[in-house]
Amino acid sequence: MFVEANPERCCGAGMCALAAPEVFGQDEEAGTVLVLASPPDVEHWEAVQDAVQLCPSGAIRIVMSRVDEQPI
Ligand code: SF4
Repeated sequence: MFVEANPERCCGAGMCALAAPEVFGQDEEAGTVLVLASPPDVEHWEAVQDAVQLCPSGAIRIVMSRVDEQPI
């Protein structure tokens, strides 16, 4: 699993960073989402799923593969 975020869509609510602080952070100036770990460790997958559901703007998503990397 990989995690993608769209900072332009992010409204800075911070729910992702609360739900999965090992995987999501917030830009100190803009307040928008930062992906800290992609792919995230398996132990954080459930928290990532929670974060995606909690995000009010649909700015983060899970993708199972990327062109440039192998999925876990
Ligand atoms: S929960 Fe969504 S809107 Fe809030 S900071 Fe995270 S990505 Fe942005």
